[in-house]
Amino acid sequence: MEVKNDFEIKNLTTFKIGGKVKTLYIPEKVEELTELLRTLDNYIVLGSCSDILFSSNGYSGNVIITTGLKNFEIRGTRVYAECGVKDPLISQKVSEASLSGLEFLIGLPGTIGGAVYMNAGAHGQCIADVFVSACLFDKETKEVVFKQKSEMDFSYRHSILHEGRYVLLSAEFELAKQPVENIKELMERNLTFRKTIQPSLANPNAGSVFKNPENDSAGRLLDKAGVKSFDFPTVKIWDKHANFIINKGNATSEDVLDLMVKMYQAVKNMYTIELTPEVIFIGDKTEKEEELCNILYRIKMQK
Ligand SMILES: Cc1cc2nc3c(=O)[nH]c(=O)nc-3n(C[C@H](O)[C@H](O)[C@H](O)COP(=O)(O)OP(=O)(O)OC[C@H]3O[C@@H](n4cnc5c(N)ncnc54)[C@H](O)[C@@H]3O)c2cc1C
Repeated sequence: MEVKNDFEIKNLTTFKIGGKVKTLYIPEKVEELTELLRTLDNYIVLGSCSDILFSSNGYSGNVIITTGLKNFEIRGTRVYAECGVKDPLISQKVSEASLSGLEFLIGLPGTIGGAVYMNAGAHGQCIADVFVSACLFDKETKEVVFKQKSEMDFSYRHSILHEGRYVLLSAEFELAKQPVENIKELMERNLTFRKTIQPSLANPNAGSVFKNPENDSAGRLLDKAGVKSFDFPTVKIWDKHANFIINKGNATSEDVLDLMVKMYQAVKNMYTIELTPEVIFIGDKTEKEEELCNILYRIKMQK
């Protein structure tokens, strides 16, 4: 297992933002991960860091990165995957086995752990549609437990993992047999659609900044509220989609939070709709970041 002290995490994130963490662990076996979860006190579990804004001030605790847990197995129409398996890889592998249901993962730069946490979705498909069961580590009892789909509390960009009690070790999905050509065609369509409106990772970003409000699109509301004209020295809005923030090079987490508040306020002023962030803030906050997070993450914090 790789262990690094005083590690600057920035380059492991798709936003290319983040300070030093006390110790970084990259386990390669599920047993190594569960051992860490049993022995460490202060830790966060992350996958590909594609849905997070990591604090430029770093994190005084430990970070466990799951990307070393890469095993998966296809048995008939069932797929078993460890938490660190990359979303595009599993999408590709099941397509080669004529299995449909994970075509949407082809363009997501995350892992299975992050995808289940978020109940990731795109192009009309989501994790909950094909999820069967998961093997989880229960932080309270320090035991490994199994949960069926009905116990996972899935809803839009939400699962039981948001409670913070469980860490996903692996998950099983049930897919449907389809001709390979149909699956590949859908994956191609998904990728083409993404390329036309979303930034590639050459423009550092963390995907959609805000969740879609019910029956509406955060991108549409932000566009109408005029945020595409927001362009600051280190951060800007992606010109083809108003719900993406781009790190122009040397952005700090505070620069991003500041822009998020401006976006949030623009929509609130025009529509009286209060957007909820999809991007998750992680790490130690400055006083200013505490204030900005209190505005943005108020609903989540009140729960
Ligand atoms: C360009 C771009 C496009 C994107 N498009 C989409 C999209 O269309 N749809 C969509 O839903 N998302 C999208 N995303 C967001 C993101 O890629 C996905 O949600 C992804 O599945 C998150 O996985 P991750 O490994 O990067 O999670 P991370 O960012 O590493 O973590 C996200 C959260 O999951 C938790 N987590 C991670 N692993 C585990 C685990 N094993 N157990 C418990 N908790 C865990 C973390 O603690 C954290 O709270 C996009 C991101 C980018 C950069």
